[in-house]
Amino acid sequence: MSVGGCAYTVIDHTYDVVVVGAGGSGLRATFGIAAKGLKTACITKVFPTRSHTVAAQGGISAALGNMGPDDWRWHMYDTVKDSDWLGDQDAIEYMCREAIPAIIELERYGVPFSRTPEGKIYQRPFGGMTTEFGKGIAQRTCAAADRTGHAILHTLYQQALRHHAEFFVEYFALDLIMDEGVCRGVMAWNLDNGTLHRFRAHMVVLATGGVGRAYFTTTQAHTCTGDGGAMVLRAGLPVQDMEFIQFHPTGIYGAGYLITEGVRGEGGYVTNGNGERFMERYAPSAKDLASRDVVSRSMTIEIREGRGCGPDKDYIDLHVEHLDPKVIHERLPGIAETARIFAGVDVTRQPIPILPTAHYNMGGIPTNPRGEVVTVKDGNPDTVVPGLMAIGEAACVSVHGANRLGSNSLLELVVFGRAAAKRAAELVQAGAAHKPLPNGGESAITRLDKARHASGGTATAELRLQMQRTMQNDCAVFRTRQSLDEGCARMDTVFDGGSDIRVKDRSMMWNSDLVETLEFENLVLGALAVIRSAANRTETRGAHAREDFPERDDRNWLKHTVIWVDDKGGTRMSYRPVKLQPMSNDVQSFPPKARVY
Ligand SMILES: Cc1cc2nc3c(=O)[nH]c(=O)nc-3n(C[C@H](O)[C@H](O)[C@H](O)COP(=O)(O)OP(=O)(O)OC[C@H]3O[C@@H](n4cnc5c(N)ncnc54)[C@H](O)[C@@H]3O)c2cc1C
Repeated sequence: MSVGGCAYTVIDHTYDVVVVGAGGSGLRATFGIAAKGLKTACITKVFPTRSHTVAAQGGISAALGNMGPDDWRWHMYDTVKDSDWLGDQDAIEYMCREAIPAIIELERYGVPFSRTPEGKIYQRPFGGMTTEFGKGIAQRTCAAADRTGHAILHTLYQQALRHHAEFFVEYFALDLIMDEGVCRGVMAWNLDNGTLHRFRAHMVVLATGGVGRAYFTTTQAHTCTGDGGAMVLRAGLPVQDMEFIQFHPTGIYGAGYLITEGVRGEGGYVTNGNGERFMERYAPSAKDLASRDVVSRSMTIEIREGRGCGPDKDYIDLHVEHLDPKVIHERLPGIAETARIFAGVDVTRQPIPILPTAHYNMGGIPTNPRGEVVTVKDGNPDTVVPGLMAIGEAACVSVHGANRLGSNSLLELVVFGRAAAKRAAELVQAGAAHKPLPNGGESAITRLDKARHASGGTATAELRLQMQRTMQNDCAVFRTRQSLDEGCARMDTVFDGGSDIRVKDRSMMWNSDLVETLEFENLVLGALAVIRSAANRTETRGAHAREDFPERDDRNWLKHTVIWVDDKGGTRMSYRPVKLQPMSNDVQSFPPKARVY
């Protein structure tokens, strides 16, 4: 195919289902679909076991009750409460119920969980996880030391190979192929040999992870650039609840790397510059194990009021030096190494300097609990987009609402990865014929060609930095009308700056300059959705803390934001109602099954 005077080789592929992304959610869906006999491809821009899921440390929640009494209804209560009532309760019920068989399934697939002396799966306390509807502290988070994501991702990849899913590794997905509102496939670029690929599929599953790199300080990997959400926006579909960004309280000062909440679960605590355990003031019962937004905000207030640590009083100390070195060695070996490398600290003797850092995107591509992408159309907020699914951090089911409980995300990956596989198998018939394509993905190739030959005056890295600084300064832990308005104006300048971008490398093979530019185009759409949605929501809920509107406002704001961003950077907004009805009461749409564990 010839575009802009350049000849591009386009190679065609035909599959029943194509999954984009090989993190925990993508792999769980991939092998679940392949196991149902559907011809399944998984496209990923990095080698599967390098996906961000590998970095997850602390664990995965499920009310197994291995360390004391537990009940999925307590888990559900905690999740609804921590979502600040913005989570959809049908999806939350499904996740908390299915957590138990999902973890047992993971164990059988081969995940090497840490063990109790009796040989059961070890479970640690995590922030916000309680027993008896908020009365006690639950030990609900299953862990493989502090490398739980690593253990899960490797196991899932092995399962995907076992079920003969086909992998397209180091292929960069560019855009969806849409035909009158139906998704028919996806275009991708092979980074290794420069060829372009047109994948036809009856179902495309987006599992592309978060958009954390829109921020300057983040725990998320460099690959977390919100590509799936941007593809959806370019297809004329909306994203949901993007204003809700979780800041993790314990990122290493200056580097942003994560120190897992498991550290506080094992007895670690934070102090200010006066050596005071200040969380006792802000959260007298949960203290250091209060939910992440509470700890992040408390830390920010301490620093702002001049009680930070160090010469500039600009960080907080995290202590584990009082713990038995054996506990650190056995349960937290990874953080000891991370603290040594990135903070120069020996955790058995010194505290770790920490700051809140952008960690997780509660928002994403709106879906129903089966993983099908939905949009607002003709007044129906649950209109399914045929041929398209989304799972994992890229999606917004929404089980996390306005704030996510630690260890509920790994759970979401496996529960909804599995649900999507089931739904895809119901909807797609193996080997069914494909209709002729209305277009050959030309718009994706035109966009790639334009970026490849961009010869303006601004390097991509410069613009990206402007965006990251803006988001960090104007749309962080605390937000005000002024910071958000200024941030929106700065983001408009960043967006417009895209027309003056410069790409030096014109090749098609291993062109990291071009990859970063395409990723920047995706990031900037995500960042615009975040900051405009944040400016629009005039209340404080979960992770969205407005200093000018400090109260939660259920009368006006108990609803999901959905936002469209067009190719000129313009936005349009609408809303979806929150599902306040748990699944077991909603017999019509989802008959509950009696289940024996
Ligand atoms: C440091 C850290 C620690 C965490 N710890 C925990 C924890 O202990 N417990 C917990 O529950 N949660 C934790 N989380 C959150 C959780 O790990 C993530 O939300 C989750 O792993 C995301 O998984 P995913 O499958 O959605 O995407 P990812 O694992 O991010 O994978 C995304 C995939 O999409 C692919 N991709 C993206 N764009 C493209 C494209 N354009 N073309 C082709 N492929 C593409 C990538 O190659 C990759 O394979 C942590 C997160 C971080 C950052």
